Amino acid sequence: MIAYLEHFVHENETVSIRDDDVSALEANFDLSTTGIASKDFGGMKSFKPLALIRTATANDVAQAVKSAARTSHFTVAARGNGHSINGQAMADKGLVLDMRAMENHYFQLLYLDDAPYVDVSGGALWEDVLKRCVLQFGLAPRSWTDYLSLTVGGTLSNAGVSGQAFRYGPQTSNVTELEVVNGKGDTLVCNERENSELFFATLGGLGQFGIITRARVLLQQAPHMVRWIRVVYSEFEEFTRDAEWLVKRREGDGFDYVEGFVFVNSDDPCNGWSTVPIDSPNQWFDPVHVPSTSGPVLYCLELALHYRNSYHRSHVDMVVDRLLKRLRFIEGLKFEVDVTYMEFMLRVNGAEKEAKCNGTWYAPHPWLNMFVSKSNIIDFDREVFKKILRHGVGGPILVYPLLRNKWDNRHSVVVPDSNIFYIVALLRFIPPPPKGPPSELLVAQNNAIIQLCYNKGFDFKLYLPHYQSQENWMRHYGDKWSRFVERKANFDPLAILAPGQRMFSRIP
Ligand code: FAD
Repeated sequence: MIAYLEHFVHENETVSIRDDDVSALEANFDLSTTGIASKDFGGMKSFKPLALIRTATANDVAQAVKSAARTSHFTVAARGNGHSINGQAMADKGLVLDMRAMENHYFQLLYLDDAPYVDVSGGALWEDVLKRCVLQFGLAPRSWTDYLSLTVGGTLSNAGVSGQAFRYGPQTSNVTELEVVNGKGDTLVCNERENSELFFATLGGLGQFGIITRARVLLQQAPHMVRWIRVVYSEFEEFTRDAEWLVKRREGDGFDYVEGFVFVNSDDPCNGWSTVPIDSPNQWFDPVHVPSTSGPVLYCLELALHYRNSYHRSHVDMVVDRLLKRLRFIEGLKFEVDVTYMEFMLRVNGAEKEAKCNGTWYAPHPWLNMFVSKSNIIDFDREVFKKILRHGVGGPILVYPLLRNKWDNRHSVVVPDSNIFYIVALLRFIPPPPKGPPSELLVAQNNAIIQLCYNKGFDFKLYLPHYQSQENWMRHYGDKWSRFVERKANFDPLAILAPGQRMFSRIP
């Protein structure tokens, strides 16, 4: 299939491209224009590409990479749904590939050793994968992100984490095969046995080693219904003790989803008590239950139990009650609702709609995501949640435990060296000035948190990392850096791919 090259000739800008480089590309691709390639969800970075190419097949992707490789300076960024925060899917004066153009290229159910899998395009949205798998086959992937308008290739390049990751690992641990176009323009099928080094490198590889054009995702039977529960804690130690107890339970003997968040102990409508009830206005948070000894923030465990239509309600009640009985949340601050599996999986869409209405969806998003070791999370709470963030971030502050043994060391992503570590996500939805603070201030607050973690010697890693210098990337990867560099030399020797990560310079 023909792909479309959307060609930017920037006014008032000198772009040092040799004419023959451009004509080599023009020979392969059609021209038109669009601006999405220089934008992302973060809204804080903007780099103008030379062109946006709508790559509809793996062959288009390979052609684009080969065309770039023939030049002395072009880089190539795969753009999934552009939900990065710091320009990671951009290519300054390079080629941006619109992976959404190939979202329907693959969709194939298959069984291997009686286990169901689906082959999907790297550019498919998880939301579409969910809908097609559930509606057509009654099946669903096991591991998710909270928000599903993200592409398969985009999340597999990072990790892909949500409340199921404690049991099944991140999304990267739930794919068994990829089709990848590497930095030489070669299209390779890779898995644990075939081209295994490329397979492991690409998962969590920040797009540095290859562009994922197809992924084979493990499926399981989709439940019909979900009991969705929130319970509130005033003491962080009790919250973490219960959360850790829950994530260590065996499948079938615990909840199917475990997350948690921090909220402000006040009536602040964006950050406080009213953000907790699931089914408001039918349920409300009565602060009379909050102990008078509570601090500036409170904690909420968010849990879900899957079940099938055939289960009797009393059976679901019994299972839930048996588990909740073991937890030490504040009596009177329990909220629950039964929803369909699809409603639960698409639960963030309501927040998206609201943010679009109030304008915060389109404002800058100075977000911070990190993994913090269990051994430091109590200190982190004392220094960060209770002090720096005691007034909230204008959106969710997620904090919940993950198990190290569900993460594959052979993949490129790095996490703290601890059996249990917590994901911490500051998902700021702040109106732009003059209503809200300038994003520079919030970025500075993020940096202060990161610096505090270094100063205190915390065992932590940034998730969805972003650094300005290679020195910082070396520190991020630690003793895995040499393996990362070696893999880069093997799979993308000219450093053509994912320039927006600012990790390697293009080799002429
Ligand atoms: P893009 O932003 O388009 O790309 C991200 C990086 O991956 C870039 O470097 C790009 O070049 C590379 N890339 C893109 N496609 C490919 C491909 N096919 N092959 C190789 N490289 C590729 N993350 C979680 O883990 N859990 C969550 O619950 C979660 N929720 C989120 C909610 C929102 C509202 C937002 C904005 C982000 C959330 N994220 C979450 C983060 C998200 O997973 C990452 O930002 C992800 O990269 C976004 O996917 P994308 O398709 O938009 O990728």
